[in-house]
Amino acid sequence: MELDRDTLEKAAAEALERPSNSAFWDDRLFTTHGAVLHWAERGDDILAESNYLTALDLIRAAADDGRPDTEVSDEHVIDGTSSHWAVGSLRTIYVQVYEDNALRCRDCGEVASWVISRKPNARRRGMCTHHKEQWRCSNMQGIRAGRVSMMEITPRYTAAFIQATELALSLQDYPILDESDYSEREHEAFEEALKTAVEQAQRDHYDTCEQDDEIAQRFYEDESATHRNQWCHPDDVCWATVAEEYEAARDAYFGELAYEIYRYNVLGYNPDQLELDFAV
Ligand SMILES: [Zn+2]
Repeated sequence: MELDRDTLEKAAAEALERPSNSAFWDDRLFTTHGAVLHWAERGDDILAESNYLTALDLIRAAADDGRPDTEVSDEHVIDGTSSHWAVGSLRTIYVQVYEDNALRCRDCGEVASWVISRKPNARRRGMCTHHKEQWRCSNMQGIRAGRVSMMEITPRYTAAFIQATELALSLQDYPILDESDYSEREHEAFEEALKTAVEQAQRDHYDTCEQDDEIAQRFYEDESATHRNQWCHPDDVCWATVAEEYEAARDAYFGELAYEIYRYNVLGYNPDQLELDFAV
């Protein structure tokens, strides 16, 4: 993806726009480093988590790309956390927008978007759009006489910022940055939710730990169970269904156990073949 000048300028202005109502712990924020992506950490939005962490890796990699002896990402990329009343903790990726050696405006120190040189000495000076206009108005004579050249330039953006802007644009087209990272996280969250529901179902009984484990194993391995056939997202997990299917697995388990005991007691089956940690 090749980003044009307008896109980068707009992205830079947005990233560096300082929110009015917050205090910052680091004076680089919103001066050299702009905010490019947020994630409300305590929310359980797995997609937001996946996108944030994927973007962070890619932006850091872009910053360090082709610089084998330095970790410039430590300077150019800040993974910031701030607490926020609504969402708990808010993670924000801040990225240095312009290269350290970007040309600056002679009058205000902003990043220059114009280069002016004047004969006869032709020294180049940088200017922002605003000061270029001012300068132009008071140097009309020289300009008319052709002693001045004014050239618009594209400021030097950091690789990290260019990467961040590309990612932000790609998120506008498609909401997932890394499909496999997302589905992996989603699957982990699903397994966790299912485990919690199973533990809840186990609380209804006073089975031993071994029994819990064996019944749970039956439950997980049951090919006809809803969690195997119909669920794949954490939101799918329904505690009532889990309780019902766990109950069925438990009935089957104790049913078999009872049959083993019956065979042992009534049919005189060889007890050496039985592994019963059960008080008969
Ligand atoms: Zn200026």
